Amino acid sequence: MESQKQVLERLRAAFRSGVTLPMHFRLTQLEAMMSLFEDNENQILEALHEDLAKPKFETVLSEIEIVVNDICYAISNLQTWMQPTYVGTNLATKLDDCFVRSEPLGVVLIIGAWNYPLHLILLPLIGAIAAGNCAILKPSEISRATEKLLAELIPKYLSQECYAVVCGGAEETKTLLENRFDHIFYTGSQSVARCILLAAAVHLTPVTLELGGKCPCLIYGRLDMKAAAKRLVWAKFFNTGQSCVAPDYVLCTTETRDALLPFIKEALESFYGSDPQQSPDLGRIVTDRHWDRLVELLKKSEGKIVIGGESDKKTKYIAPTVIVDVIESDALMQEEIFGPILPIITIKSLDEAINFVNEREKPLALYAFSDESQVVTTVLERTSSGGFCSNDGIVHMSLPGLPFGGVGASGMGNYHGRWGFETFSHKRGCMMRSWLLECVNVLRYPPYNESNLSW
Ligand code: NAD
Repeated sequence: MESQKQVLERLRAAFRSGVTLPMHFRLTQLEAMMSLFEDNENQILEALHEDLAKPKFETVLSEIEIVVNDICYAISNLQTWMQPTYVGTNLATKLDDCFVRSEPLGVVLIIGAWNYPLHLILLPLIGAIAAGNCAILKPSEISRATEKLLAELIPKYLSQECYAVVCGGAEETKTLLENRFDHIFYTGSQSVARCILLAAAVHLTPVTLELGGKCPCLIYGRLDMKAAAKRLVWAKFFNTGQSCVAPDYVLCTTETRDALLPFIKEALESFYGSDPQQSPDLGRIVTDRHWDRLVELLKKSEGKIVIGGESDKKTKYIAPTVIVDVIESDALMQEEIFGPILPIITIKSLDEAINFVNEREKPLALYAFSDESQVVTTVLERTSSGGFCSNDGIVHMSLPGLPFGGVGASGMGNYHGRWGFETFSHKRGCMMRSWLLECVNVLRYPPYNESNLSW
């Protein structure tokens, strides 16, 4: 079997050969990615079901359609994206062609997390391919079935010269990171991101970090409680709460909480029935270790469980759970929950809610629910987060026109659509000088005298 070093050398040789440069090559690879999805939908559904018991609809929406849409978007726009951008000139450069050229970076490393194991590898790969790079893909070892499937399908569909999958966990990734890459695109936890940055520093490698954190959902003022509850419940419990952009906690007044709770109950029952454990539409926690952490959080929380709370280790099940009377020092508020547990924290005013958010790390997503546009605008203007969505959750990430990424502790850099192409491109500022009017250059050549300054 080829060593990591050999794989990297093979990809580097391919990149240096210039094979990835023509638009035709990039389009062929993107089209091959489309065929990968067309030919293997059942295998993809099975792998995701094995890893996370993902319902078919959730896999289609969040692992297949989101990637396929981005591929189509890239195919339709690649020619435009690849065009140089001409910039204005001044008197001294009037005869020159000055433009910004998007160039590939080289061989890039894409490291993925387990919660959307296919999309978190293939969506960045679209940007990397579109921009003309070679890439090593390192899927999460935790979502084993999807990791195996990627290792089988990528070489079957994409150029083996240019793209490779490396399997394994922390140790294999650390060894991989000893090598020089031209860019590292990492999705995962904040703690591992620090190791990635340290490893990248050795080679001065630029890095994109797609991290997590606690995404707040502010619900304030007049609104349709029934619709709000449905949208909140869907966004929170989609993928069993294991989404980096899931609403992590709700901030609202006591009155809003009391009005909202019956509708949350109703929404949960209408989505998952009276016994959610029997519902085919609710996935499972990814591993025993992750299940233990969530159940421990539930035990440590001093809040009051008002919905759910049941769990079953054998099937890695945790019921959709809502907890009230949660205070800032509660265990649930010390880390990203990343599971089907929704704490509700009460605040007295919009100002207090905004301060609550601003006193913490900048989140990956921030949600503001209200029928009063002034409330939404105030939250938008007075906070900072990777992305923002009013009156719904998660859906903002489905649009290839919007950049997706964090800010501060929730990450650096972004992707999706053109943003992915830009992330994996170097902007080369080029000036193509003319030989004409050499006489004007006399003004800048030594020996300097007063007439130089008139230039
Ligand atoms: P993780 O950091 O444990 O693992 C991510 C990847 O890093 C895996 O491929 C893993 O093999 C590798 N890895 C693990 N330990 C390593 C080490 N010591 N050195 C080098 N590599 C190592 O993250 P996870 O548990 O898979 O993912 C959950 C986190 O990811 C959550 O915080 C979530 O919010 C975040 N996330 C963010 C996004 C986003 O787009 N911003 C998307 C999904 C998940």
